[in-house]
Amino acid sequence: MITVLKHGVTKQQRDQLIEWFEEQGLGVHISEGQYQTVLGLIGDTSRVDEELVASLEMVDSVKRISEPFKKANRKFHPENTVIRVGDVTIGDGSMVMIAGPCSVESEEQILEVASRVKAAGAGLLRGGAFKPRTSPYDFQGMRAEGIELLLEAKKATGLPIVTEIMSAAHLPLFEDVDIIQVGARSMQNFELLKELGKLHKPILLKRGLANTLKELLMSAEYIMAGGNEQVILCERGIRTYETFTRNTLDLSAVPALRELSHLPIIVDPSHATGIARMVEPMALAATAAGADGLIIEVHNNPPKALCDGAQSLTPDQFAQVAEKVRKVHAALQ
Ligand code: PEP
Ligand code: MN
Repeated sequence: MITVLKHGVTKQQRDQLIEWFEEQGLGVHISEGQYQTVLGLIGDTSRVDEELVASLEMVDSVKRISEPFKKANRKFHPENTVIRVGDVTIGDGSMVMIAGPCSVESEEQILEVASRVKAAGAGLLRGGAFKPRTSPYDFQGMRAEGIELLLEAKKATGLPIVTEIMSAAHLPLFEDVDIIQVGARSMQNFELLKELGKLHKPILLKRGLANTLKELLMSAEYIMAGGNEQVILCERGIRTYETFTRNTLDLSAVPALRELSHLPIIVDPSHATGIARMVEPMALAATAAGADGLIIEVHNNPPKALCDGAQSLTPDQFAQVAEKVRKVHAALQ
């Protein structure tokens, strides 16, 4: 349930109302926008007397929220959430590019890719250290050492880093990671999501291979319910009957999530298509659809990549894509 306050309500009046809700055992989420203040009520609101609340002098309107996701809901928080990482902002209308290899493979590799993607305009460096591979016989990532190398690349370039977590047991290794990625395969690892909810760090949450947008938002809700409201949603393609591409990019997820939620939305055209030559058209389409950012796999030598070489761009190809993305984004302003 949400309670929209009238313009000009004093802090004292507002706090009294909040106290009254809290006395009824409810949590209150305050969203203070430029034009209105919205109080989102969390918990069992079935016994709240809606008419009584609506009749209060300071209250403009009361609405029940039917969706099970509350904190992630745009009705709770009408203005877009903006996430800041170093000098980069995500969700403020700018277009952020996160680029880097599928996996960190060596010091030379990550340092080279980091400096090249930075020169091409990437705002953040990606790189997997813990890799969720379908086969246990495939390269599993450099693990702790991979994170060390990402931190080295961050030091060398100034780019904040994004890397995937697969187990809450590894959290101590992620202390200096700027954005923690939850991969598609972990989207519904609820115990992991709960642990991430205790952090004060942005979480990049990827949509599961066969999950609906509402399930994605419920997973965001798990993180937010713990107090960590810095969640970035990522559409990375879903499994359909089509086999030509690795997944099917559900681009309508961008406007749909925009309507349902205030959280920033980014698109991953690399995992969505699995094919390097399709990354550019889908990156441009995602930009036109209104995404807040892109996450793109870039490798210094794609044919030799230990993971996802077929979908990886060379640094030069990435520079071209980035340039076109900026043009499309500027054309929409
Ligand atoms: C990745 O980003 O490297 C990755 C494994 O992505 P996803 O979880 O979307 O498959
Ligand atoms: Mn990958």
